[in-house]
Amino acid sequence: MEICIDFDGTCVTHEYPEIGRSIGAESVLQELVANGHQLILFTMRSDRKVKSMFGDYEELFLTDAINWFEKNNIPLFAIQKNPDQSAWTDSPKAYAQLYIDDAALGCPLIYPEGNTERPYADWNKIRALLAEQKYL
Ligand SMILES: [Mg+2]
Repeated sequence: MEICIDFDGTCVTHEYPEIGRSIGAESVLQELVANGHQLILFTMRSDRKVKSMFGDYEELFLTDAINWFEKNNIPLFAIQKNPDQSAWTDSPKAYAQLYIDDAALGCPLIYPEGNTERPYADWNKIRALLAEQKYL
């Protein structure tokens, strides 16, 4: 199966544009790939050139996320889009059978105590759901 995976709040805590803390996604994502699934990074992060009165500079926030996958030995099938879908659609939505996103209705979340930070994906529960639905 092709699985779209969000990054901030899903793979790590919300610390955009920095890379957030580990929340246990790594081993589950590795397990998904080991089970033959193809991961598509589907994130609002981008790389862009910024023109500023103080000088132009580059933001490489998407590259930072891609590097996180590489560093954690999680192969990505694609980034931001499904390379196979152009044959049958011009839609900008990346095609997948499953989307894992902390902003999605029903995504299990951890709400940090004292509301000190935004909620993030609960990978113990996500793993259980993936197993229940036979992805693992
Ligand atoms: Mg998110």
